[in-house]
Amino acid sequence: MPSENKRGKPDAVCTACGAYGRNVVMNEDHRCSPRKRGAWRSMLHPDDWKECDRCGGTGRRAGQRCDGCAGEGWHIARRARP
Ligand SMILES: [Zn+2]
Ligand SMILES: [Zn+2]
Repeated sequence: MPSENKRGKPDAVCTACGAYGRNVVMNEDHRCSPRKRGAWRSMLHPDDWKECDRCGGTGRRAGQRCDGCAGEGWHIARRARP
């Protein structure tokens, strides 16, 4: 199983829209939409995330964006949900 196509684990989630963030600046808001801003919540614990089992963490399946994880390759683990 090649691993070089895996996406990096996100390290934050927007508390307003649920977007995943990578290398975000914590004191900067997430611009969820042109008129809405949300706050990043730090999700740095390894158990906060689990790899998408539909795409194996790549975010893609058969050349398409994975519909299991919306192309992210990761899901928020149950215990980390807000
Ligand atoms: Zn957001
Ligand atoms: Zn997936």
